[in-house]
Amino acid sequence: MNIPDIIIAVDGFSATGKSTFAKMVAAEFGFLYLDSGAMYRGVTLFTMESGMVSEDGTIDEAALRPALADLDLHFAHEDGKTKLYLGGRCIETEIRTLAVSSLVSPVATIPFVRNYVDDRLHAFSEGGRVIMDGRDIGTTVFPDAELKVFMTADPAVRAQRRYDEMVAKGEPADLEAVMKNLAERDYIDSHRETSPLRQPEDAFVMDNTHMTLHEELVWVLGVIQGKFGLLEVPALTH
Ligand code: C5P
Repeated sequence: MNIPDIIIAVDGFSATGKSTFAKMVAAEFGFLYLDSGAMYRGVTLFTMESGMVSEDGTIDEAALRPALADLDLHFAHEDGKTKLYLGGRCIETEIRTLAVSSLVSPVATIPFVRNYVDDRLHAFSEGGRVIMDGRDIGTTVFPDAELKVFMTADPAVRAQRRYDEMVAKGEPADLEAVMKNLAERDYIDSHRETSPLRQPEDAFVMDNTHMTLHEELVWVLGVIQGKFGLLEVPALTH
């Protein structure tokens, strides 16, 4: 089955499995996967490393704004994986720490940061056949995306999944701290002034609390077939 060269926008709360889902769809159907949250995390890491965050967590916006003009954040595709680079340095691991997770939502409320990330995402997506996940992809970044998915799941299940992920990677993990971070980010993300997290009106909603990855793939395939009138069913590998 030939899935058309569309843009698929995946939005939802923190740790609902958006990136796992998007990566799987990208691998299965030959799409480029772009993780918009990684860009916000990259800006956050840069802000921290450049001494632009005071001890009380205040971000020096006057210093950050001009610095973004020369900030080279980009994705590189290695061994079937997409990794974020800050100039020549791979920062994929550093951007996933709890320190970055704790500061990323405040950084992502800054309008000029959002403009910077949006511009980069549009540049990376030229040519289409892209699946991108985030908080405002279907509402702001690609309001005309041909397919929009909004993901949600039970908060306790989300926290447990993120905790298990950290444990599997050998990172220090604390379930309470993870739960608190997810709740804080969800609150800030849905209440900020610029591009708050919202379910796009034309999105298909997936609650994956009790779904396996294979079921998620079958679900999206059904949506794609229905939406684009595709009759053939491809053999799935995931
Ligand atoms: O997706 P991930 O959890 O890595 O995103 C990290 C943070 O980046 C989110 O909590 C949110 O504050 C911000 N973000 C955003 N808009 C997006 C993607 C992420 O504000 N499109």
